[in-house]
Amino acid sequence: MSSSSFSIKSVSILGSTGSIGCQALEVIRAFPERFRVIGLSAGSNIVLLQEQVLIFRPQIVCVLTQADAEIMTSFCSVQALSTQVVWGDSGLLELAVFGDPDLLVVAIVGTAALMPTVHAIRQGISIGLACKEILVAAGDYVMSLAREKKVSILPIDSEHAAIKQCLAGILEDEKQVSKLVLTASGGPFWDRPLETFSDITREEALQHPNWTMGSKITIDSATMMNKGLEVIEAHHLFGIEYDRLDIIIHPTSIVHSLVEFSDGTFLAQMGLPDMRFPIQYVLTYPEKLPNPWPKMQLSALKSLTFHAPDFKKFPLLQLAFDAGRQGGAAPLVMNAANEVAVRLFLDEKIKFLDIANLVRDTVARLSQEQCPTFEDIVALDHRVREEVGCRFA
Ligand code: MG
Repeated sequence: MSSSSFSIKSVSILGSTGSIGCQALEVIRAFPERFRVIGLSAGSNIVLLQEQVLIFRPQIVCVLTQADAEIMTSFCSVQALSTQVVWGDSGLLELAVFGDPDLLVVAIVGTAALMPTVHAIRQGISIGLACKEILVAAGDYVMSLAREKKVSILPIDSEHAAIKQCLAGILEDEKQVSKLVLTASGGPFWDRPLETFSDITREEALQHPNWTMGSKITIDSATMMNKGLEVIEAHHLFGIEYDRLDIIIHPTSIVHSLVEFSDGTFLAQMGLPDMRFPIQYVLTYPEKLPNPWPKMQLSALKSLTFHAPDFKKFPLLQLAFDAGRQGGAAPLVMNAANEVAVRLFLDEKIKFLDIANLVRDTVARLSQEQCPTFEDIVALDHRVREEVGCRFA
């Protein structure tokens, strides 16, 4: 193959200043001949966005507020950049499809990126999905829309990227696959005695043993809600029923997930716990390219250990299976309530154990709501947030 046999991939990133967004740009920077950045969106970190704009020279950027848009506009004019600046929800919609990118990386936390993601899928744009909440809240709708538009949803979540790699070339005959097994680090508390859970502090919950991530997903890992959300994400991505989805605690996060086959054998995907690997997998898909990141040394691995999950200690894990099986609005309600509960915990308005209680109560109260249309999904998502948030305003 000649070196010119690949075409340049154009990429836009929703959430470029977050943990995944920054690492996606790091991967892009490692393969400068392969990618062109069309659009970047940021939250409140305007200084970092300005650095990214100088390096990647996108055609469009989106910020949250009009005031930030004015700052960015004058910055671009001082730097003699022709970058277009948009802001707010309508700006995000514009950016998601601007210039018809080959891939839209969705790396905004929570369901904030649901509308722009759906907008991009409707325009036939492939999605690199780092935001599992979108599939939890609206998986049936999003996946059927993606099938209709022949759009790929490529998972940046390490477990799902692992399973996708294990299944490469195998999924043709579903009967071969008996189970998908998601590994879970267990977070900081998997071996902490349950009697001491009422003393867990915000700082303890923010200490993840293996992965450096944003605060929302780090708390989700501590409650193991993250793994629950990933079970629902896997159900939608791989079209597999909940009885064939397993969780296994694997504290060192070396095995990123496994597929069990009907003959009793497994395929696992392994590597260092470094999000640049699954991000690169999605960005360069279906190719595997040499990269400069540190690699796993097999001889340095003393052992690989696995433990059954404790559903009593981590009730949100059970709730996720239950909500997934119930279907309808239950996963959406669970996810929205959890997003608010995590925010309340980070703001030190509720205790660690209150997160699960608040989510469970909200699911019990609202999971029977009906969401026949996409607009209904968005409306219920807002309503759950308002109702849960109001109780602590
Ligand atoms: Mg994950």
